[in-house]
Amino acid sequence: MKYHSTRDLNKIKYESSFVIKQGLASDGGLFVPETIPTLSLDEISEYTSLSYPELAATILSKYLTDYSFEELLEDCKKAYSYEAFGEDACPIKCLNTNTYSLELWHGPTCAFKDMALQIMPRLLSRALIKTNEENDALILVATSGDTGKAALEGYKNIDRIKIAVFYPQDGVSAIQELQMATQDGNNVNVCAIKGNFDDIQSSVKNIFSNESFSNELNKLGYSLSSANSINFGRLAPQIVYYFKAYCDLLKQNKISLGESINVCVPTGNFGNILAAYFAKLMGLPINKLICASNSNNILTDFLNTGRYDRNRDFHLTISPSMDILISSNLERLLYFVAGSEKASEWMKSLKEVGFYEIDEKTKEEINKTFIGYCADECDTRNTIKNIYNNYSYLIDTHTAVGFSALHQYREATNDNTVSVVASTANPYKFAKDVYNSLFDLETLDDLSSLSALCKKTGEPIPEPLANLTNKKINFNSSATTEEMYEVIHNFIKK
Ligand SMILES: *Cc1c(COP(=O)(O)O)cnc(C)c1O
Repeated sequence: MKYHSTRDLNKIKYESSFVIKQGLASDGGLFVPETIPTLSLDEISEYTSLSYPELAATILSKYLTDYSFEELLEDCKKAYSYEAFGEDACPIKCLNTNTYSLELWHGPTCAFKDMALQIMPRLLSRALIKTNEENDALILVATSGDTGKAALEGYKNIDRIKIAVFYPQDGVSAIQELQMATQDGNNVNVCAIKGNFDDIQSSVKNIFSNESFSNELNKLGYSLSSANSINFGRLAPQIVYYFKAYCDLLKQNKISLGESINVCVPTGNFGNILAAYFAKLMGLPINKLICASNSNNILTDFLNTGRYDRNRDFHLTISPSMDILISSNLERLLYFVAGSEKASEWMKSLKEVGFYEIDEKTKEEINKTFIGYCADECDTRNTIKNIYNNYSYLIDTHTAVGFSALHQYREATNDNTVSVVASTANPYKFAKDVYNSLFDLETLDDLSSLSALCKKTGEPIPEPLANLTNKKINFNSSATTEEMYEVIHNFIKK
């Protein structure tokens, strides 16, 4: 299997290891596989007997053909180990006969990004060897909270990789700060920066494009790399859990082989829902993909009108991981439906004037599968309450956006197909807003809401969050944006 850029009309081909090392194509496009591997229903039914690491290695081996099956299986067994994910990496919970929650948050940081970030660093480490790369990789991350911790947990103690995370000193929650400050690992660094998230993100971008600094790093044996969610090495592992969900429904006799299901995904950068689309193209019986957005409902508008317009207000919401106005992975969908030429043209327009409008044929094709709904803050809070009151099931703010979208879809269409909602974070990860939604806006601070929510609902606090205050603080330094170069220097010389 070879890969090329979404924007390359000549379709120059690359190996998967190169694609994983490189991340973004040099023309600014995203890497895509040249074909989509397909599976028969019989093969899918055989997957029901596989463990999660076996299933993951099997699906990944169809895409990452310059990795051996043995290499992939070894990496998947380490990534999705009992220690990291417990008994079942992503169980489905039944709410009623046609509604299921796919819990993607059983990993070390209690959010779905672990599903990809536990395996992707291992693939990158091997990619350095496969591509004869002489330098080690230095990962720089600017984070507003959650991605930083998930990246730290994924990259810690991985061969030939170091990771430095920068977060805004007064811009993350107390829980998020503690999670990062107590990070362990022999190749990690965490530093608070005086400034807001945008300041830090632009400083990191400047560091990436500073040629004399990258020459300096080269001399020290390092090349800069990013942990960005547009890397195909993060997308591929996300395809796996949709097969797992279907197999679980089969095993529990909730559906019959070949029966179509709907999938609803709380969406930000369009990575998770695009992985579900890949699963559908591979032959998994999925009918509709319901794209759920919060008040930053640019995707809802796009799916309804065919116009993607980022010239709009940005809202800070209680589902912050979906507060996004540019859903980068959408480019891959546009490429698959309309081809390189049109995808490039629309991306150029987005960059230059902030919007694009797709043609009617492309829109029709997309709408055969995708439909969008959005939930505002009030819908989100009410959904947390309704799902808890009706099913005794506690969900986080992002997952609530998903359940609200599914509810709206069913009201509008009367389509009662068995549906799976991707549950993207453990409710305790956003305990304060979950608590306030359930118990009528009593405001509590971040840390005390953990125990308050536990007391009221009896749901156990997940281990990584429960023991936070007892863990050793390993990082407590702060710096200005100008001092970031020095911080990196000191880190790699250690
Ligand atoms: C990142 C994230 C999302 C959005 O996923 P995308 O792949 O960016 O669409 C949703 N929920 C949570 C909790 C997340 O961390």
